[in-house]
Amino acid sequence: MASRKRSPLRCPVCNGPLRKTRITPLGSVTADLRWELHAGECPEHGWFQAEVISRPPREIFAVTRPGGIARKFTINGKPLYAFPTIWNRQDPLVKADPYDARYWEVDWSKLPTGTVVFSS
Ligand SMILES: [Zn+2]
Repeated sequence: MASRKRSPLRCPVCNGPLRKTRITPLGSVTADLRWELHAGECPEHGWFQAEVISRPPREIFAVTRPGGIARKFTINGKPLYAFPTIWNRQDPLVKADPYDARYWEVDWSKLPTGTVVFSS
């Protein structure tokens, strides 16, 4: 069962492992598209989640809890809601394993430089 796999999700801020990680199947978009919600908590930076729809996620969201509302954060004063992943800059027609951890890394080239600050 795919839902028993380990989530490649890590903290987008410190790249540390997350605790309480969970993969929630959200059903099928179509017969062969798998749709899952991955979530986990960084002891320092809080909850994060990402949606997998048969491909790696394009963004990782900071959330109040799994399935909860997005937490806004700022980098160098710029308000943001999501961390774009390396997958975000791939050609969407490329086939990829949705669990390939390389694609889950944050694409910092798309974000302002500075310290990530959560408004809590
Ligand atoms: Zn962290």
